[in-house]
Amino acid sequence: IVSFRDVSKTFGSHPVLRNVSLDIEEGQVVAIIGPSGAGKSTLLRCVNQLERHSTGEILIDGTPIGGNQRKRDLIRLRQTVGMVFQSFNLWPHLSALGNVMEGPVTVLKTPVAIARQQAEALLKQVGLADHAAKYPGQLSGGQQQRVAIARALAMKPRVMLFDEATSALDPEMVQEVLRVMESLAADGMTMLVVTHEMGFARKVADRVVLMANGQVVEEDAPETFFTNPKEERSRAFLSRVL
Ligand code: ATP
Ligand code: MG
Repeated sequence: IVSFRDVSKTFGSHPVLRNVSLDIEEGQVVAIIGPSGAGKSTLLRCVNQLERHSTGEILIDGTPIGGNQRKRDLIRLRQTVGMVFQSFNLWPHLSALGNVMEGPVTVLKTPVAIARQQAEALLKQVGLADHAAKYPGQLSGGQQQRVAIARALAMKPRVMLFDEATSALDPEMVQEVLRVMESLAADGMTMLVVTHEMGFARKVADRVVLMANGQVVEEDAPETFFTNPKEERSRAFLSRVL
């Protein structure tokens, strides 16, 4: 559903992605791991065109993105691809329910009553049925991040991107967010997950991709990657994080 073909990206003269090729199949969960500065966030940001890649192709459902895209195409792309960041970026003046309803009502033109029903169902799905009326300031970090996931899901994306979705959370809240992500994966969502949570990568991902210096160093099934990595670079990384 998402394909990178020889994708490179430079900031000025600084190469950040170098000849990345990857295929993410429908329903797959791909964990992207690697040291700081490896280009993981940039890779995700290129998928929904928060950044533009410099060369190569990114295809979604076989259609290349980027290039001379019209605004309408960009809106459609952002709808197809949901994203959850480290910082939740909820609208502070809207309740949890309001945050989840906003996109469907304003962008998809979903009638308010229907958007509300769907938002209530999504909040229930992320375990927040009882918190729908609360404002972000009244919610814990883990709860806010689950609202952010529900908000992304409200746009009915075909792919979800997670960029260190649990990194800003207190340890006791990490698990509640990972559980939501795991159940999303079990429901068949296609997910591209940048994470430092090796336990999650090992348990939930179909494939693990190690990036360093803008390149894909190794791509493997989690069992292989964590027990018998092929590359020296992967072994060095694992010895630091495990
Ligand atoms: P981390 O684990 O710290 O989040 P990362 O793997 O996500 O790292 P990126 O954020 O993709 O890494 O950054 C890769 C490289 O690109 C870094 O060297 C960074 O300094 C550089 N970079 C990222 N965004 C920009 C930008 N807007 N302008 C210039 N350089 C940038
Ligand atoms: Mg990053």
